[in-house]
Amino acid sequence: MSTAPYPFSPATALAQAMGTIDETSQGVVLPIHVATTYIRGADNSYPTGNVYSRADNPSYKPVEALLCQLEQGSDALLFGSGMAAATAVFQALKPGDHVLAPKVMYWALRNWLLGFAKDWGLQIELVDMTDSAAVKQALQPGKTKLIWIETPGNPTWTITDIAAMADLAHSVGARLVVDSTCATPLLTKPITLGADVVMHSATKYLNGHSDVIAGALISARNDEYWQRVVNVRKGGGAVPSPHDAHQLLRGMRTMHLRVREACHNAQYIAEQLQQHIDIAEVMYPGLASFAGHQIAAKQMRGGFGGMLSIRVAGGEQAAIAVAATTKLWKRATSLGGVESLIEHRASVEGPDSPCPPDMLRLSAGIEDANELLADLQQALAFARTHVRK
Ligand SMILES: *Cc1c(COP(=O)(O)O)cnc(C)c1O
Repeated sequence: MSTAPYPFSPATALAQAMGTIDETSQGVVLPIHVATTYIRGADNSYPTGNVYSRADNPSYKPVEALLCQLEQGSDALLFGSGMAAATAVFQALKPGDHVLAPKVMYWALRNWLLGFAKDWGLQIELVDMTDSAAVKQALQPGKTKLIWIETPGNPTWTITDIAAMADLAHSVGARLVVDSTCATPLLTKPITLGADVVMHSATKYLNGHSDVIAGALISARNDEYWQRVVNVRKGGGAVPSPHDAHQLLRGMRTMHLRVREACHNAQYIAEQLQQHIDIAEVMYPGLASFAGHQIAAKQMRGGFGGMLSIRVAGGEQAAIAVAATTKLWKRATSLGGVESLIEHRASVEGPDSPCPPDMLRLSAGIEDANELLADLQQALAFARTHVRK
């Protein structure tokens, strides 16, 4: 798939799905293409390029085109989940290849890298991606083929300098791949900063309504490596259903509004909780006191995202009590939906996790900011008076 440049802003591109309409019916919304197989032409070719739906489906095309436009890439692929997209990046490497990945990253991918990918022959090394000297030191010229980063990094929101990591990767002929799920295609455009491939869990902000599991990759160029990624999807068939792709496009049409509200709510709540008596620390890239704030301000535009974490002064049991006591903040995993979620991450991530035991992860939704804040305040007050240290 390649796309003509679309001359309008991200807001217009999203709201109008880049102007797509259904040519057959003149409908303003596209149909869902449910066929699994397609008829050959008289000359034995496939006139539309569609062959069989494990490999590709017309319902993916408008989503992929929109992602290409937003990320300023040259090609994009939808997958059946964020993990299917992420693992395709590694499956397109070869056994023996050396990979640098961050210490702070999406936990399920870290587990997959240290488990399956290692067994399968990749040499996985976890490094502190906020320390350029350490990353440079870890590079093995000729062997290192890929640097994977995630910024802001789940669940402590550490910020990695994308341009600096792209330079380091390219200095040894490796690729830089960025998990940009929490930055969204609106706040950060990694390809414009030198990244080779961008990954999104489309389950999160892209769809935004907690009702579709999907993933995406966007590539800066259509090269031999990218063709290997294309073949991983084609061969393995880790694709979303056409219905999910259609629903994802509907969700994306309001992404700019949702992300704007989530950023406002997260920034407001982070600022309000900073001085709160029951809070030991607020972790949010939009706070001037946050370690990665200056780099975040350099590479993020329009907000610092909807994700923040808080450390509860009363310790682990108090943190768990807070998550159990909020009413508006729903106690569930995941992020990036219109409803606010709260979660005690140490319970989820297990022993390899970098997250402190007293930490709660918050996904700010698009509800009223003061009502969200009041709900946290009542839960913090309850935990202070009901949990013994
Ligand atoms: C959720 C998530 C993933 C995995 O995506 P799924 O759609 O759940 O497979 C990867 N990276 C980040 C940062 C995520 O939040």
